[in-house]
Amino acid sequence: MARVFNFSAGPAMLPTEVMEQAQQEMLDWRGSGMSVMEMSHRGKEFMEIAATAEQDLRDLLNIPESYKVLFLQGGASSQFAMVPLNLMGKTGHADYANTGSWSKKAIAEGKRYGEVHICASSEADGFNSVPDFSSWNLSDQAAYVHITPNETIGGVEYQGLPDTGDIPIVADMSSTILSRPIDVSQYGIIYAGAQKNIGPAGLTIVIIRDDLIGSAIAECPAMFNYTTHADADSMANTPPTYSWYLAGLVFKWLKDKGGLAAMAEINQRKAEKLYTAIETNEFYSNPVKVENRSWMNVPFILKDSELDTEFLTGAKEANLVTLKGHRSVGGMRASIYNAMPEQGVDALIDYMNAFSAKHG
Ligand SMILES: *Cc1c(COP(=O)(O)O)cnc(C)c1O
Repeated sequence: MARVFNFSAGPAMLPTEVMEQAQQEMLDWRGSGMSVMEMSHRGKEFMEIAATAEQDLRDLLNIPESYKVLFLQGGASSQFAMVPLNLMGKTGHADYANTGSWSKKAIAEGKRYGEVHICASSEADGFNSVPDFSSWNLSDQAAYVHITPNETIGGVEYQGLPDTGDIPIVADMSSTILSRPIDVSQYGIIYAGAQKNIGPAGLTIVIIRDDLIGSAIAECPAMFNYTTHADADSMANTPPTYSWYLAGLVFKWLKDKGGLAAMAEINQRKAEKLYTAIETNEFYSNPVKVENRSWMNVPFILKDSELDTEFLTGAKEANLVTLKGHRSVGGMRASIYNAMPEQGVDALIDYMNAFSAKHG
């Protein structure tokens, strides 16, 4: 059986070693006589799996003691509501940066719960950059500033963070978490759906500073209240146990690979060679401002969109799959998260060069 190089934006590739370990442990997790899928979330075995995964994530991201790590359901999309439900009540206002499709969804949801102020927008340039931080117009009443550090569809990524003073930054890191080291203490909340760079779908990770827990509005559903989950160590109801376990295997794999500094080096190299292949071949192009090009999601278009179908068919024959761009932007998109081996990127570049030589 040949595994393909899967460039899907999410659910995305997982490391083969992790899948093999899960396979080995599938029927009998370490002598327990059962699969992790069949375990009580309150039993000794699963509690150990859960605690180990959390500790490994804390180690990888160097998460300060003053932050809780929550393992939730609902996807990043539920956080679009959970964040305002829990935080916006303080002042009734929040700032949002509008840098693409996912920002827009967060903004639309935020507007249900209070006054949303767009503090920065790259809409005028077709969402091909992150507005220069010096141009941001922050309001002093904002309970938080919401940003999308990596726009998965546009392939636009922040370099650094705006200075928001005492106002906490809430970051939707779904498609960039674990791609490189970050300073967690610069954020109030970091959240991410797991299915891009963490593990299987069904798990959503929220890293939240303690003082931001406990301010939900009265009408907030219990299951949308951070307090509920923080008080119960993410076991207020049945958590996504198998996804939590697999995420834990991915965290171990990342530690074995040398942690996030090592991943950053590889990710930067992978991205740079792909962007160079696009830049140096007039058959391909990428519209994103150079300093905001994502390491994780690389959209590109062919000189002649009539050739898109042939490009995708040939790619599939070369074991390079899910390269079709998002329906809202067209063209191609190669998502190259941690689990995409460098050979996958090399194979894509070889294919792109061969294709353009044939059709250029
Ligand atoms: C995929 C994605 C989402 C949506 O995640 P779900 O887990 O499907 O709700 C939100 N934000 C960003 C940046 C994403 O990449």
